[in-house]
Amino acid sequence: MNVALFGGTFDPVHLGHLAAARAAMKCFALEQVHFVPASLPPHKRNRPLTAFAHRFAMIALACAGSPHLVPSLLEWSDDISAQLNYSILTVRKMASKLSGGDRLYFLLGADAFRDVAHWYQPAELLDSCDFIIVSRPGFPIAEIEKVIPAELQGGPVTDTSVRLRRTTLHLLNTITADVSSSAIRRAAAEGKSVHGMVPDAVAEYIEKLRLYQNG
Ligand code: ATP
Ligand code: MG
Repeated sequence: MNVALFGGTFDPVHLGHLAAARAAMKCFALEQVHFVPASLPPHKRNRPLTAFAHRFAMIALACAGSPHLVPSLLEWSDDISAQLNYSILTVRKMASKLSGGDRLYFLLGADAFRDVAHWYQPAELLDSCDFIIVSRPGFPIAEIEKVIPAELQGGPVTDTSVRLRRTTLHLLNTITADVSSSAIRRAAAEGKSVHGMVPDAVAEYIEKLRLYQNG
């Protein structure tokens, strides 16, 4: 089976995430897309995150009714000191749960991929599995190869893929919703409705729990 790991802060999960997951599912015949909320993402420690429980609950609501979208606790740990989560470790954890014939992809947006060289052990990560990189409004996937460390570049670059020394980056130039978690947090903080940016059940959850209202 083809499986993708979709990591992020998901604070909150929104229609852009779902559009990206669905586009990847269709294009790569994915049986499962695992939404993996980070419990303490290394690159976002300057901003206080909404509690993991809320972010996970919203993912569970967003995935409800879609058998192929799976809320994942892969990066969760009860042990506060163990909450530094790095993508390479998450990929290894996920890979260890799969069987021989399964194929694992790492799904992410073009904006996130642009930072990949600054992630923990980027070479090991890029060697570990194929990537699916989705375009995002404001972040076209042209120029993706510019951020790849030279020693990893492995071969031909086409409109839809970049061959690295061990793996392939698949470029999905799909149109996803022009929505971001930051815009949702801002809207909620200003007392505006977030309907139309997140699934209805998530909008309801944000309103009921009064998330994001203090900034
Ligand atoms: P924030 O504004 O807080 O950074 P975000 O909307 O970027 O939130 P993240 O949780 O940071 O959401 O993103 C998780 C993953 O989803 C990243 O790989 C990101 O590139 C991707 N992503 C987020 N929004 C979109 C979108 N509208 N289209 C395609 N990919 C997206
Ligand atoms: Mg982001």
